[in-house]
Amino acid sequence: MELPDWNPGPPGLYIHVPFCRSKCGYCSFYSVDTLHDLPSFLEDLPKEMSLYEAQFEPFDTLYIGGGTPSLIKTDDLKILFEAIDQAFPFCGNREVTIEVNPSDVDLAYLDALRSLGVNRLNIGVQSFNDRILSFLGRRHNAVDAYAAVTAALAAGFDNIGIDLIYGIPGQELSQWIDTLNRALSLNIAHLSCYQLTLEKGIPLREHLEKSGALLPSERLQREFFLETSDRLESAGYIHYEVSNFAKGEHRASRHNIKYWNHTPYLGLGPSAHSYTAGKRWWNSRSVRGYMDRIGVGVIPVESSETLTLEQLRLEALFLGLRTRWGIHLPDFSSRFKCDLLEEKREALDKLTGDGFLTIDREFLRPTRAGMAVADGIASFLFI
Ligand code: SF4
Repeated sequence: MELPDWNPGPPGLYIHVPFCRSKCGYCSFYSVDTLHDLPSFLEDLPKEMSLYEAQFEPFDTLYIGGGTPSLIKTDDLKILFEAIDQAFPFCGNREVTIEVNPSDVDLAYLDALRSLGVNRLNIGVQSFNDRILSFLGRRHNAVDAYAAVTAALAAGFDNIGIDLIYGIPGQELSQWIDTLNRALSLNIAHLSCYQLTLEKGIPLREHLEKSGALLPSERLQREFFLETSDRLESAGYIHYEVSNFAKGEHRASRHNIKYWNHTPYLGLGPSAHSYTAGKRWWNSRSVRGYMDRIGVGVIPVESSETLTLEQLRLEALFLGLRTRWGIHLPDFSSRFKCDLLEEKREALDKLTGDGFLTIDREFLRPTRAGMAVADGIASFLFI
């Protein structure tokens, strides 16, 4: 079947910096805990860029994530930004985000980021509780986290986001609320609140399995989620995606939204994923493998897949029902030749009747209770 004609806007550019000073016990992102190859990696990135020249429309977002991009010195970042601007055109008012670790940044570093054109900062705070930070294996403490946010404000950033994690083994709701209140007191633009999930083979999971410690039950996890949504919305944040909250729609991450609505994106660096027109590909999940391929002038892609219309439809449903915008029914119908109201009437009646979804004019949207079980809802609709 022919792929739908779908172009929701300019593509996004992502750069994965796969280096950390140490590995956090819960982390499943690809990174190595030695900086030995960082200089060669920075030399290889422009070579990877040159392999993609003219293949994407002009980008309007740039997101530098990892790993720990704040391990890159500002002089090297300047060279990286020059290489990006030489390789790719950008359009409009570009959103430029960089992830930083609270231990790495001070006012001088953040000033330099601003002068390079970074206009959005994502700070990996995770918690304001030192015991939890140590349990997670973070190398900063709560004082460092406050200092990083304060320095970012002093440097003039008005679009600051922080990441937080809840659902730590043994964590009580009151302890999480304390971290949320501390985050609220900073009055920043964006909060990401992730439930702790531990993939197979992750050190913290193995440690917990050995020690018999338990993650909070599903019921308690839902309580954390609902309480988070309620508190943050009452404080003026929009709950725009299962884990993301913004002070107004204009503060939502423009880059991350692209991942949720099949907008094309190009990912550079080890393990980075890319997507365009129904095709997804991902780079080698090894610094060495990445550099070997770049060294011989080959795109460092490990594998790729071409999604069928059915797979795209399912993804659009899963991803759409995780956001406050939900699914635009006429668009869905024209892209996927599927009239949800007609074909899923019975399931939709049940889900709306039980308070998980609303049908508001042309949109199918999850309620707060629906967002708490968004993946389950999408599965239920397609059983
Ligand atoms: S700093 Fe971030 S990317 Fe690095 S190990 Fe910790 S969570 Fe993972």
